[in-house]
Amino acid sequence: MKTIILRYSILITLLFATLYENSIGGFEYHGFIYCKSPTFCTHEQGHALDTRLGNPSQSDAFNTAVIDYANHALLNNNRNAIVDTIIAFPGVTLPMSNNGFATLVQGGWGGFSELYATIYQMVDGDIESIPDELQRFYEVRSW
Ligand SMILES: [Zn+2]
Repeated sequence: MKTIILRYSILITLLFATLYENSIGGFEYHGFIYCKSPTFCTHEQGHALDTRLGNPSQSDAFNTAVIDYANHALLNNNRNAIVDTIIAFPGVTLPMSNNGFATLVQGGWGGFSELYATIYQMVDGDIESIPDELQRFYEVRSW
């Protein structure tokens, strides 16, 4: 019986890993990272950082800081790649995107946790390159 349960567990894990790989290229779960390219790995490291810091991406402070940052940048005609990402991000300013597996388990891809990891990915993990207004959310005990 144990052998059968173990075999099914492995099979189901492989199935889920394959679905994840085909739809998003990686995943992070409580600090465990699976990724298939350096870019996806950096993105998943962003999720791991978010987890390690206590999920600042889910705080009202981060959500407000993101929207304020983008609004101020637009008002001051000071756009950059991060501003452009925020203003067109699924689950932040647009509906969640329809992404196979993510849609199945969480209703779509996007939202502030994905934005957090995407910003980390965009600066290639170099927190110093994150705009000052958002940088503190990527640092230990500063948000
Ligand atoms: Zn992600």
